[in-house]
Amino acid sequence: MSIINIDKELCTGCRRCANVCPVGAIKGEQGKVQTIDEHKCVVCGQCVQICSSYASQFDTEITSIDLKLKERGMLEGTKEPLFAAYNMGQVDLLKKYLSDDNKYKIVQCAPAVRVALAEEFGMEFGKLTPGKMASALKKLNFDRVYDTNFAADLTIMEEGSELIKRVTEGKNLPMFTSCCPAWVKFAETEYPEILNHLSSCKSPQQMAGTIFKTYGAEIDNIDPSTILSVAVMPCTCKQFECDREEINSSGYKDVDIVITTRELAYLIKDMGIDFINIDDEEFDKPLGEYSGAGTIFGSTGGVMEAALRTGYELITKKSIPNIDLKFVRGGQGLRTATVEVGDLNLNIAIVSGLKNVIPVIESIKEGKCDFHFIEVMTCPEGCVSGGGQPKLLIEEHRDVAYKKRKESIYDHDSNLKIRKSHENPAIKKLYDEFLKEPLGHKSHHLLHTNYVSRKEI
Ligand code: SF4
Ligand code: SF4
Repeated sequence: MSIINIDKELCTGCRRCANVCPVGAIKGEQGKVQTIDEHKCVVCGQCVQICSSYASQFDTEITSIDLKLKERGMLEGTKEPLFAAYNMGQVDLLKKYLSDDNKYKIVQCAPAVRVALAEEFGMEFGKLTPGKMASALKKLNFDRVYDTNFAADLTIMEEGSELIKRVTEGKNLPMFTSCCPAWVKFAETEYPEILNHLSSCKSPQQMAGTIFKTYGAEIDNIDPSTILSVAVMPCTCKQFECDREEINSSGYKDVDIVITTRELAYLIKDMGIDFINIDDEEFDKPLGEYSGAGTIFGSTGGVMEAALRTGYELITKKSIPNIDLKFVRGGQGLRTATVEVGDLNLNIAIVSGLKNVIPVIESIKEGKCDFHFIEVMTCPEGCVSGGGQPKLLIEEHRDVAYKKRKESIYDHDSNLKIRKSHENPAIKKLYDEFLKEPLGHKSHHLLHTNYVSRKEI
């Protein structure tokens, strides 16, 4: 079974999904059942977000709901309607592991999850609930509740250093970000000739997974083979990413199970946790400590802003004059700027929505691209609008929800004491005690990866 599927019994052939698919992977005639070209599909889940055709409890002509839940990896008794376009879940599997005391269970949560999870419990769009989320995860029996934001800070240390190296050496420019797995799959499938332009950094999810099973195992004095590494993500493609063959540099699979924001909500409801009234708790230390820069990764422009905050200070050895780089923030499309960083005029671009990257790639192929650094996110507004986020069935709600989720992300950043990745004390400690230096031997082995051509010949 693929990660993204269309249920033949439920699809009405409205082709709303085909209209949002950024790569034209959905095929079929209007009014007939649609199919997905798995090779082309970048697993972004935008079709899953938009599909509004569903099975109701009263549909007797179709396969039973219980059987469908099982086939989709969903929890028995889930009350939410089952839509025609869906992603294969892992929440059923996770529930079984949660009661296994032989496993040391570590969970990480991506920045966009904490600004959307509460919507599943009837709270307003964009309600920010990191404390409730951490508390609910502890009640779910996780031994350590860590944070992908921590690894976002780590990504900035490695990616910022990589950019400085490439700019200094004048090699493989422009450099693209590599934290969006759907973008990486797209580049591998359609444009393998530009793979040397992708940062070699693993995504924050994968960096976190590797660090949990190495440094994390050391500090908790745990046998890494007993660790179950779980990720809660706004993105359906994160499951595809964690199953990539090369992602196991800790000696084990970096991330064992990925669930989406929606699946975490199902699990919390299933376990009878009162999310609305639960008291806040902190993430565990040190791998749950994060800066504002780590948290803005969830929005388009966030990786760029985080990288500039750190890159500016590493290059100039001076404090950045204004930490809120509002010119990189925005919505779907392509934004460009030239930023003075010491003696360097850094040409940057931010791409949100996968279709918008094609002209940029074509300009590289023609040798006409003068950008140094380009952030690419597949989903319309970055991870806040990911395929695994709470579904928005009413068209008008979509823009409001995305706006509110983004506002919450930037509020969270501005309310944190530490707002630059290189100032995160837990990151400094990780380098002092374990990694030693960005792009060093250990960092290279654990935190960087390589890509493969998936082009059909
Ligand atoms: S999968 Fe959903 S959105 Fe796509 S054509 Fe079928 S019913 Fe419409
Ligand atoms: S997951 Fe994304 S790429 Fe794949 S079919 Fe759906 S919309 Fe298209």
